[in-house]
Amino acid sequence: MSLPTRCPLCAAASDRLSVVTPHVYGDRGGRAFFRCGACDAIFLHPGLSPEEERKFYAAEFEGFMSGRSGDAGGWTQPERHIAANQTTVVRRMRY
Ligand SMILES: [Zn+2]
Repeated sequence: MSLPTRCPLCAAASDRLSVVTPHVYGDRGGRAFFRCGACDAIFLHPGLSPEEERKFYAAEFEGFMSGRSGDAGGWTQPERHIAANQTTVVRRMRY
């Protein structure tokens, strides 16, 4: 598991960061959720590099969301998306 060197929000040093869980739904390994003890942010690490992020949002986001949401997900319609994702909300509230 890769460890962050700084909080991505407030830049607190690694001694202020702790693992919330190494279990990331859908991840194929190597990512974890961390909590910053300075600002209380919870974040996924490692994230995308700036180049990976640019490519993802330019070329893959629509397909990613459609595939992730499925036919009932309705990710382009907020009310439908919220209704279709209640099981995800319940699962994530644990963290
Ligand atoms: Zn922080």
